[in-house]
Amino acid sequence: MLYTSQDLKIYNTLSGEKETFKPIEDGYVGMYCCGPTVYSNVHLGNVRTFMSFDVVFRYLRHLDYKVRYVRNITDAGHLENDADVGEDRIAKKARLEAIEPMEVVQRYTVDFHNILNTFNFLPPSIEPTATGHIIEQIEIIKTIIDNGLAYEVNGSVYFDVLKYNESKPYGILSKRKVEDLIHNTRQLDGQSDKKNPQDFALWKRAEPQHIMRWPSPWSDGFPGWHLECTAMSTKYLGEQFDIHGGGMDLKFPHHECEIAQAEASCGNPPVNFWMHANMLIMNGKKMAKSTGNFILPNEIFTGDNEHITKAFAPSVARFFMLQAHYRSILDFTNDGLLASEKGFYRLMDAIDAIDGVKPSSESNFDVNAWKQRCYDAMNDDFNTPILIANLFEGAKAINQTKDGSVTLSKNDIALLKATMHTFVFDVLGLTNEEQSSGQSDKLSGAVEILINLRKEARINKDFALSDKIRDELAEVGITLNDGREGTTFSVN
Ligand SMILES: [Zn+2]
Repeated sequence: MLYTSQDLKIYNTLSGEKETFKPIEDGYVGMYCCGPTVYSNVHLGNVRTFMSFDVVFRYLRHLDYKVRYVRNITDAGHLENDADVGEDRIAKKARLEAIEPMEVVQRYTVDFHNILNTFNFLPPSIEPTATGHIIEQIEIIKTIIDNGLAYEVNGSVYFDVLKYNESKPYGILSKRKVEDLIHNTRQLDGQSDKKNPQDFALWKRAEPQHIMRWPSPWSDGFPGWHLECTAMSTKYLGEQFDIHGGGMDLKFPHHECEIAQAEASCGNPPVNFWMHANMLIMNGKKMAKSTGNFILPNEIFTGDNEHITKAFAPSVARFFMLQAHYRSILDFTNDGLLASEKGFYRLMDAIDAIDGVKPSSESNFDVNAWKQRCYDAMNDDFNTPILIANLFEGAKAINQTKDGSVTLSKNDIALLKATMHTFVFDVLGLTNEEQSSGQSDKLSGAVEILINLRKEARINKDFALSDKIRDELAEVGITLNDGREGTTFSVN
């Protein structure tokens, strides 16, 4: 059979190979992706990671899987470095700006959602927060202590990596050996309560000045960062689930710790397929605020950044990012964006032109074979650049119908159009910006006509008509707001 999901291969970080994807439960997929820590504007590199998994989510849904996609919000307990010392990033920001930690969380969660909406991301099925799952995290710690793989010191609880490593290998995902880790870590400076530097915190006792704290059997404190993902993924997807995604930088120690915590509490490996999106760099260098080699996602849309020469539409930026495979490094450059912009509008023009293609009695372009190549690209570990190359091939065929060098039958025109729409809009999640903005202009124009008619009706004291216009617009989701400056409208 054509296009079946049995052909889907996914590169699994765990095995280092592309494996045929088979979900645990036929027809259902459980997928988790580590979400953002909401203490600053979302980083473009993170947007890229989430976009990769947005496309995975979209394609799996297209293949008719029922997908439960969980992406968390880290709103507590993420310390500044992996050695379990330093300040909670959210608390630090709150202290610097003299606001409540939850105000920081709220502000940057809203920013995160705005940016993702602008990029046309689908919302995940569940977006749980770390602070909403403190009880679950405490329960997991209790189990790990009961299983002898964690210990308490001075109100903090640490995972015993060496003890764990006696029965299960620690480091299987990042291909590290505990012996090497011991060799490479600095000796404890006497400040830490840990038995060994490799151990990581499951619970930290809060210092008196620490604002974010919760009661626990060990102390008033807060959970270690790695624990929240274990708590939330297993709660909503089960002790074993299909796909876990995240950025490459999370492979170690974060995901390694997730595996250890799940094994230590549930006794089995939590995830079948580990997927990691590669980095985003800018102009060939690491993106960093401190060096100025930096751009905020929003600045791409406004053009207000020295590294770009103009503003770019969100779909153009999205198209640009998807022209690199998610496992390749993506170099963000102005020239790259300009080239993508040309390509994007070429593709959109071709899609707009399909309806004008005159059908021929026979086709000399094999639309079925082309459609299969589109699926083959996505089935090969979500290879969006190859898919896009195929979409351009489809666009070229459409354009060549104009001089007659390509002919298409009526059925093939319909198939080509449907396939283009599926991949461009549903799977890649692009939107035809010009078209939609044109449509909203027309909508505004039409509502303005009705607002003026209503005004005339009121001048003529025909309040029945005036109310009818207002009420019937409200029924279709358009609210009129009468103000001192006149009447405006909002679309719900
Ligand atoms: Zn995580």
